[in-house]
Amino acid sequence: MIRVGIGHDTHRLEAGRKLILGGIMVDHPRGLSGHSDADIVLHALTDAILGAAGLGDIGDAFPDTDPANKNLDSAVFLRHSLGQIATLGWHLINVDVIIFAQEPKLGAIKSRIKDNLACLLGIDVSNVNVKAKTGEKVGFIGRAEAMSCQVVVLLGRS
Ligand code: MG
Repeated sequence: MIRVGIGHDTHRLEAGRKLILGGIMVDHPRGLSGHSDADIVLHALTDAILGAAGLGDIGDAFPDTDPANKNLDSAVFLRHSLGQIATLGWHLINVDVIIFAQEPKLGAIKSRIKDNLACLLGIDVSNVNVKAKTGEKVGFIGRAEAMSCQVVVLLGRS
């Protein structure tokens, strides 16, 4: 049995915040604003995993109104979703990620994000793909007002 899941997230860019993508700290003058560490990659990935297993979304388990989630490492969200799907007998088959960011250039960082995602997910790096797209200087991505991420995952269960 297989199940596909999709996740999407957007956060605004703000001066004075750290930029964390897929658990990797990226050197940039601005970071993503949010209640947690605002890691769009881990948020979209968590939602995709929960979605594939029919388990709702990240906000169900971790409301952004809860002070306990403030500045939280988003790997906590991901680990929670992995625990939930494992309980139901699901395992991850593969993950495909697109990061939408006008700047900085992510070409040199993509492989580090990919390696870290494979590590966090406990799957071989050959089952993780990370792509980066600019906004072609149009829209909120292109004006570098925000970054977005889309993730598709495939789960399997025997
Ligand atoms: Mg988010």
